[in-house]
Amino acid sequence: MSSLQPVRGTHDLIGETQRRHAHVVETARRIAGLYGFDEWATPIFEDTRVFARSLGDTSDVVSKEMYSFEDRGGESLTLRPEGTAGVCRALVTNGLTQSLPQKVFYAGPMFRYERPQKGRYRQFHQIGVELIGAAEPLADAEAIAMGRDILQALGIADETVLELNTLGDAESRTAWRAALVAYFTEVKDQLSEDSRTRLERNPLRILDSKAPQDRALVADAPMIGAFLTDDARAFWDGLRSALDLLGVPFRENPGIVRGLDYYGHTAFEFVTERLGAQGTVLAGGRYDGLVAEMGGPRTPAIGWAGGIERLSMLLEATPPAPRPVAIVPLGDTAGGVSVTLLQALRANGVRAEIAYRGNAKRRLERANRIGATHAVLIGEDEIARGVAQVKALDEGSQAEIALDAVAAYLAGAVRG
Ligand code: ATP
Ligand code: MG
Repeated sequence: MSSLQPVRGTHDLIGETQRRHAHVVETARRIAGLYGFDEWATPIFEDTRVFARSLGDTSDVVSKEMYSFEDRGGESLTLRPEGTAGVCRALVTNGLTQSLPQKVFYAGPMFRYERPQKGRYRQFHQIGVELIGAAEPLADAEAIAMGRDILQALGIADETVLELNTLGDAESRTAWRAALVAYFTEVKDQLSEDSRTRLERNPLRILDSKAPQDRALVADAPMIGAFLTDDARAFWDGLRSALDLLGVPFRENPGIVRGLDYYGHTAFEFVTERLGAQGTVLAGGRYDGLVAEMGGPRTPAIGWAGGIERLSMLLEATPPAPRPVAIVPLGDTAGGVSVTLLQALRANGVRAEIAYRGNAKRRLERANRIGATHAVLIGEDEIARGVAQVKALDEGSQAEIALDAVAAYLAGAVRG
């Protein structure tokens, strides 16, 4: 058999990579908690309609990136390409549409059939939040402030800029869409093939195109500002003053439209220049129509998702590997006492390991290799006297400690 490789666009998370990844998730979970968000975990696969309905069939995700398959029962299922649709589906199917607002945090893998490159994978991971059941601009501002706080806690806020836009309400977008159709129809021949299709089906999508020949035309396209209704403008003003109040700096960018169809009013991205073309690290917006798409009542909502791989790449330092205490029995008779002590250490919250084989010298070498802070040496003589030699490996110092006091001693020492 030829050697097995991970599937193109997927990665194993091991060692430093996993520690960076976990640090992003734990930091986001902690900050989301401060804002009153609870964690949900929804299934990795859903009925295909959950995504096809909600993301919009002209979005790149639905039109070409979904991992869909028929299961043995003949159902069409899809590996989730994003988290919001599943959370909205869960809100409805768990009967929570009358218990609003719901403030949801999630983290986990997402799947998209994309061309793999730096910062773009087929299995990638997101942290995300959804604030469902709040129509006020303060909700949008809080969700955005939480994203900014997470970037700050990760030490990467200074690497990013918040780009903010409004997509207006339905009436504003209808007028804007008409203007876009008129504009792009004039230059249709210069558009990419994908964008010529978008022009027919969803002209707003052209603004999100990554094709270079489209980018040039997009720069001069009509922008939403001129088409905002009074209501939409009031919301936009409210959002910007709430962000000021929360101390969140932003840059207005009328080109931000987001890749999925369900957004209205607020659209934003935290972008960095450090990741090349894959510069968006955390992005989202308001999606007041999505819960209704899932069969629930019309429910206002705002959310965002951040790419864990991209956030991990920006981290200045890798969180250090945890350091254990190593038990080193000297000779055959020390085995029983060593194992008892091992469990006592763990019961006291100390990370503790014992090598399964090897003489004392080998075991000490291993203690150093795994980065142990201390080695606990137990020989016949120690057992006879009811003590152990506790060696601090960084300092090279050694202390004789009563066996029944070793766990408490080391619990104190590793806590520093
Ligand atoms: P992009 O414009 O980069 O394709 P998107 O608009 O498709 O992003 P969203 O669906 O809003 O992205 O997802 C939110 C975040 O998830 C992105 O900003 C990015 O950080 C991350 N992300 C999206 N797709 C991928 C991917 N294929 N690989 C790694 N991270 C991704
Ligand atoms: Mg994409």
